Amino acid sequence: MTVETPRRIRILDPRLANQIAAGEVVERPASVLKELVENAIDAGSRRIEIELEAGGARLIKVRDDGGGIAEDDLPLALSRHATSKILSLEELEGVASLGFRGEALASISSVARLELVSNVTDDPRGGWRVVAEGRQMEPRVSPAPHPRGTSVTVRDLFFNTPARRKFLRTEKTEFGHLEETFRRLALSRYDIGWVLRHNQKTVHQLRPAADGEAGERRVSALLGGKFLDNALHLDIEASGMRLWGWVGLPTHSRAQADQQYFFVNGRVVRDRLVAHAIRQAYRDVLFHGRHPVFVLYLELDPAVVDVNVHPTKHEVRFRDGRLVHDFLFSSLHRALGEVRPETAGEEGE
Ligand code: ADP
Ligand code: MG
Repeated sequence: MTVETPRRIRILDPRLANQIAAGEVVERPASVLKELVENAIDAGSRRIEIELEAGGARLIKVRDDGGGIAEDDLPLALSRHATSKILSLEELEGVASLGFRGEALASISSVARLELVSNVTDDPRGGWRVVAEGRQMEPRVSPAPHPRGTSVTVRDLFFNTPARRKFLRTEKTEFGHLEETFRRLALSRYDIGWVLRHNQKTVHQLRPAADGEAGERRVSALLGGKFLDNALHLDIEASGMRLWGWVGLPTHSRAQADQQYFFVNGRVVRDRLVAHAIRQAYRDVLFHGRHPVFVLYLELDPAVVDVNVHPTKHEVRFRDGRLVHDFLFSSLHRALGEVRPETAGEEGE
């Protein structure tokens, strides 16, 4: 056996480090869309316009009317670990913004051609532009007109990482993922107006909900009109938590778990504990192998839920999982009581 001389340890070149990090955050066009739109939401936007081409592989553009990025901050926005959203561990623990890791734009710009145009003023000529093409050059800032807000354009995703590019599916499949991501984001904020275009065709155009409107119009637009006719509305508060939304009647169940939306403080979440509580609540009203349809919003103190579990933030950890589980189960079980046959389990109590 030969012993090799060890290679020297080196700090990775920033571009390579970003490309490696991009592996976690940028799986496909839909992940880019999620990150860009979350930034637009965090910026306080009231209207978000999305333009896609070729299933996002050619173009993903997100235009918002939020607070914008100041000229001096533009190159920083593309740097790794650069964020305006938190400054300390204390702030991380109570974080209410969707982003906070300062990684998305750095990652995306290392695997695509990215352009950022932004304006923090009311003067439509007062915008600035920065471009990064696979992070080959130091980003340069130049004047560019833009109304207050930000446009981020991402072209040719994975153009410089052929191995990743090969994993892209057909345009139709990638658009399916993009539309699903859009659906989740649009369901997370009824107060924002949205436009989604693919290959120059308008696919969704959603007006913001009027004051006092609970969002039924949007739910119907995104899940089909039949859902609300076959759903129960609920809004329950207990133990410092609030659960509201719509749960489908057992008769409206599906063969696949493909219409299930669960939001924790406005963030779409996939969580085993949540899934378990919902499954238990439906257990005696659904046929085996059927899946309920639901759009549910859980609101609770950000300090009792950890969102920093994974770079994509699809997972969360509750400080008191038992309490959350019981609250979800009992709320849904009670709501579904209306349709539960009075049989086994309830008898003799
Ligand atoms: P994070 O969202 O975790 O802070 P990002 O890489 O997604 O990291 O963005 C970096 C920074 O760029 C953000 O903290 C924010 O200050 C700024 N930024 C990005 N997109 C927008 C936008 N659409 N509007 C305003 N600021 C933005
Ligand atoms: Mg972000």
